Amino acid sequence: MPRESPARAVIVGASLAGARTAQGLRRGGWAGPITMIGAEPHPPYDRPPLSKGFLLGRVDQAGIALLSAERFAGLGVDLRLGRAAVGLDPAARHVALADGTRVGYDALVVATGSVPRALPDPAMDGPSTGVHVLRTLDDALALRASLTAGARVVVVGGGFIGAEIASACRALDLDVAIVEADKALMGRGLGGRLGTAAAVRHAAHGVRVLLGRRVVRLHGRARPTAVELDDGTELPADVVVVGVGSRPATDWLEGCGLTLDDGVVCDETLAAVGVEDVYAVGDVARWRARRYGTTLRTEHWTAAGEQAAAVAATLCGTPTEYDPVPYVWSDQFGARLQIFGRVRPADEVVVLDGDPEGDRFVAVAGGDGRMQGVVALNAAKEAVRLRRSLSEGASWPSVVDDLRG
Ligand code: ADP
Repeated sequence: MPRESPARAVIVGASLAGARTAQGLRRGGWAGPITMIGAEPHPPYDRPPLSKGFLLGRVDQAGIALLSAERFAGLGVDLRLGRAAVGLDPAARHVALADGTRVGYDALVVATGSVPRALPDPAMDGPSTGVHVLRTLDDALALRASLTAGARVVVVGGGFIGAEIASACRALDLDVAIVEADKALMGRGLGGRLGTAAAVRHAAHGVRVLLGRRVVRLHGRARPTAVELDDGTELPADVVVVGVGSRPATDWLEGCGLTLDDGVVCDETLAAVGVEDVYAVGDVARWRARRYGTTLRTEHWTAAGEQAAAVAATLCGTPTEYDPVPYVWSDQFGARLQIFGRVRPADEVVVLDGDPEGDRFVAVAGGDGRMQGVVALNAAKEAVRLRRSLSEGASWPSVVDDLRG
């Protein structure tokens, strides 16, 4: 590739995927300048605690830093915070920033993550404060401040974020309801059967779970007073949290020549399709997963780090494919939920041990003749053991007989 010498790396996005890319580049011997651009004012921090320990006040801001100031300084990264990238010109090889400056690159890594989806308009056209989303440190600080004694909380959306927030509310002994449009909690990750069981578990821990319901209106002017559902139910609410999923942060890339389709479309090495020397990592990347013969986009913490390591290795001269068994975890009511692989809506689910409505179980999912996923709650050892069969592409349903035998 035509490069200035030494080659300039620019990373857009200063969260997990961006930070790990910078570390990987230096570890791999990248000698040129590295510039990292972040829209948020904070140096890179870890997001999982925002809906868990940080929300409960058990971890502070220093406790979620991804890198200490000393280690950051050691990387020799030109960190430009509080400045969003607003455009990319792949022909001229520069990124345009909101402050009017341009940053030239020889290798560009897009790590802009994802942004929370909003509720459709009439529903959101309600109270001016007291309605939260949870993505950033500032979001978490605002939500934490609102979770005061006696507050009645309604969480809209029962995905991982919504379920974790509900769990945190119960730990704070708050009255909390989840409104979920689907018939299951965390259905995107767990599928229907295990997601329905998760709803029973949440109810057992004191969460009011309303499945198959949508929010049509938020009542209240300065602050929320109630949430109105599509069946006319009005849930009293002092705090509303909207967790209806997120979308990749690609607005700034529209029309620049990159192929965008629910993410930056990339090949097996996370190289963006259609342009040279541009890569994507983290929530924003949609890459060709050889293992599944399709493209995938995940919003997983583990994937962000692995993708960053793969791209850094490629840029440092060792072309590296990214073809993992996906992994995600969630902590709720003091137990760890782990999902290896995937559970698709039509997959068969077999519970090997425990009770999915309780606080411990192990289940496997399969379809299209192959084992597809492992789901475990409070059963990390078994999950890791089963992961091996998954990564070997064990055939289904024979794997179930073997596991049971
Ligand atoms: P996250 O991982 O950010 O929690 P998910 O996509 O896993 O995101 O979950 C979002 C959940 O929100 C999904 O289960 C989806 O069915 C639900 N949802 C989307 N729109 C609405 C809505 N208007 N009312 C209630 N639930 C909704």
